[in-house]
Amino acid sequence: MPSPVYFINMRARQGLNLFDKIERLFKKSSLKQFVTGGDLLAVKIHFGEDGNLSYIHPRIVRFIIEQLKKYNTKPFLTDANSLYAGSRGEAVGHLQTAIGNGFDYSVVGAPLIISDGLRGSTATKIEINLNHFKEVMLGSEVCHADKMICLTHFKCHELTGFGGAIKNVGMGLASRAGKLAMHSTLNPYISEDCVACGVCLKYCGSGAIKMSEGEKKAYIDDKACIGCGECLISCPQHRIKIRWNESVANFQEKICEYAYGLLVKRKLPCYYVNFINNLSPVCDCYPYSDTAITPDIGILASYDPVAIDQASADLVINSPGIKGTALNKSFAPGDDKFRDIYPHIDWEVQLAYGEKIGLGRRQYQLINIFSEE
Ligand code: SF4
Ligand code: SF4
Repeated sequence: MPSPVYFINMRARQGLNLFDKIERLFKKSSLKQFVTGGDLLAVKIHFGEDGNLSYIHPRIVRFIIEQLKKYNTKPFLTDANSLYAGSRGEAVGHLQTAIGNGFDYSVVGAPLIISDGLRGSTATKIEINLNHFKEVMLGSEVCHADKMICLTHFKCHELTGFGGAIKNVGMGLASRAGKLAMHSTLNPYISEDCVACGVCLKYCGSGAIKMSEGEKKAYIDDKACIGCGECLISCPQHRIKIRWNESVANFQEKICEYAYGLLVKRKLPCYYVNFINNLSPVCDCYPYSDTAITPDIGILASYDPVAIDQASADLVINSPGIKGTALNKSFAPGDDKFRDIYPHIDWEVQLAYGEKIGLGRRQYQLINIFSEE
């Protein structure tokens, strides 16, 4: 049986603004029945890197928090620290970045709790016994929550083609050690035709990119590289490469296994909301936001992370693309926008493997709420 995925588009008018539509989305998808009074409710979100502007608008988050509080729950916003040395690599910088981006209590009406603690080492081990990992290491605080609401800004992603709900849970909530374990086979390399301009050196927070003797060519020190992928789009000459085929497929499978640890083994009940707007060509971990590659599409809600990501990917592909953006040629509805930007990435791996290990189903029924009324 297909999993239901509820959908509203982003259109609004006098007497029916986006808040009214989100309220209807929650009602139709039975959010009220999902939560229980007194629940300590983890609201997973990406607060955006300092300088990024594509993340979910804090005013919308406030509205969602207000809806959750109506049912006497105790929601808190959460994420785990990033692996790379950006503004969110430890909890103090992470919280300051979140507040700077508008996620202050006075705006969103909920406290912020960093799930893996001050330095990303507050982790809970969960045994999973799957192909890549015997156990996963997740940020502890989310493991102690009663339920989770997973708010995802759906966008393109430089390592997985797109970043959706599966990645938001599996990568987003892993502790530092967990993130490192997932990235471990992803060290990029610099090709021989590097022109030694030095631009890439300042992108690597781990100091792993170095210049050879005589400054003839940059190279990556594999011992220092943490596989975060931050340098991949830094080279103006496109000389930084990744071993795409096997490593990127494995990376997606590893993310699924981490999500499995929390959702299937820990059995954390979760309700997913995907926002397909400001559809940027790279993830919100970058300190900038490029223009959207499609018009704003809508907001989806589901209890199935595979179904909601499959539906989101299909909606993006079936949307027209916008010229003058990072898209190269896939402007027609039906063109694969993700493969246009990342031709080496088979983004379907995360959906196929997620389904295989029991995260959810790829088959979905899209329920367009306002077309039904
Ligand atoms: S070399 Fe690239 S992938 Fe490796 S740590 Fe530096 S930025 Fe990350
Ligand atoms: S930015 Fe590119 S060309 Fe310049 S040093 Fe780095 S890899 Fe070489």
